Amino acid sequence: MKRENMLNLQKDFPLLAKHKYSYLDNAATTQKPRQVLEAMEKYYQEDNANVHRGIYRLALRATMAYERAHEVVAEFIGAKFEEIIFTKGTTESINFLAYSLGKQLWEGDEIVLTEMEHHSNIVPWQVLAREKKLVLKYIPVTAEYQLDMNTAQKLITPKTKIVSFTYMSNVLGTINPVKELCILARKMGAMSIIDAAQAVAHLPINVQDLGCDFLAFSGHKMYGPTGIGVLYGRKELLQKMDPFLYGGDMIKEVTFTGASWNNLPWKFEAGTPPLAEAVGLAAAISYLQKIGWKKIQLQEKKVLTYALEKLQNFGVTIIGPSLNKERGGAIAFTLDDIHPHDVSEIVDRSGVCVRGGHHCAMPLHTKLGLTGSVRASLGVYNTKEDIDRMVKGLQQVKAVFAK
Ligand code: PMP
Repeated sequence: MKRENMLNLQKDFPLLAKHKYSYLDNAATTQKPRQVLEAMEKYYQEDNANVHRGIYRLALRATMAYERAHEVVAEFIGAKFEEIIFTKGTTESINFLAYSLGKQLWEGDEIVLTEMEHHSNIVPWQVLAREKKLVLKYIPVTAEYQLDMNTAQKLITPKTKIVSFTYMSNVLGTINPVKELCILARKMGAMSIIDAAQAVAHLPINVQDLGCDFLAFSGHKMYGPTGIGVLYGRKELLQKMDPFLYGGDMIKEVTFTGASWNNLPWKFEAGTPPLAEAVGLAAAISYLQKIGWKKIQLQEKKVLTYALEKLQNFGVTIIGPSLNKERGGAIAFTLDDIHPHDVSEIVDRSGVCVRGGHHCAMPLHTKLGLTGSVRASLGVYNTKEDIDRMVKGLQQVKAVFAK
């Protein structure tokens, strides 16, 4: 490997620079660059006040910073300012949709999901389906770990009201044909929802180009803070939807007998929002934009290729598509019949952080005949050295279990 061709970003991430972990659990959450930490600290030290309330200058500065964050996110995904709602994360975004869109659904209506969804894109729909007697259907995953699009075409019918699917699987790494799914949904008059929690840090997203009705993601998976996420919704649809939470800031006028709602997006942002987190999210986006998607994708592809080769040669069983398919950097695997928790615990002894378990995708694991898997998932700062270190750790796992 020629070092000069690789990005060296670990120096930007204080936790990595200090502790020298090989952090390979980026699908769970990412580390934060100094630029994000400093932006949040600066906000608290210089601009902190509540937003949309005070008319003193400090409050106006806080409001401007918060609204600017909406603009940054809107521009980042090709949306309008009014279409960006800040939530707590992907989970809250999807729960909001299940609650609010659920009011527009009736007995016998169908919701189509996929077999590779995270629990947060299954359970809210299951609860809604139980309450309203809706029918849930799942697009199957093929033996090549792709969505079975022939079956998808048959499952999405005029009865379908919502099609909700992940852009990138947090287990398999599969990148789904989301544009095609949005077209299938629209053809049948159904709404499309993209769970972009995994995709957002790894590929450019433009909601116009994707043609989706809604898209959700979390700040913490894209080098931003926890406690903030995004729900994009098409303006015409958001205008027709009911709020999820009621209280301060989401109202236009309140009397003792009723209330009217604020303009978009504030109608959906009741209460004091995550202010410093919004500033941090905007800083994370600037950080990614400064590096540029081309460099990020090139780096991740090089490390991913290396990782898949190394792991395959080592003899693990990879649960996910091969490199000649479109795929991202979540690499799930099993090592003989060693429990994934044991693998994770033993490689941790050499400073390697990988996840062991079902990764909030129990139905997918059950379908694959597994109770869990080990998952290494890549971020911008990972290098081939991290992969070498993981493989060394796996050798130690084998040694322990050979005894
Ligand atoms: N969807 C996918 C595909 C995910 O990977 C995750 C997080 N692992 C979520 C949804 C939920 O995200 P959060 O916990 O930030 O709400």
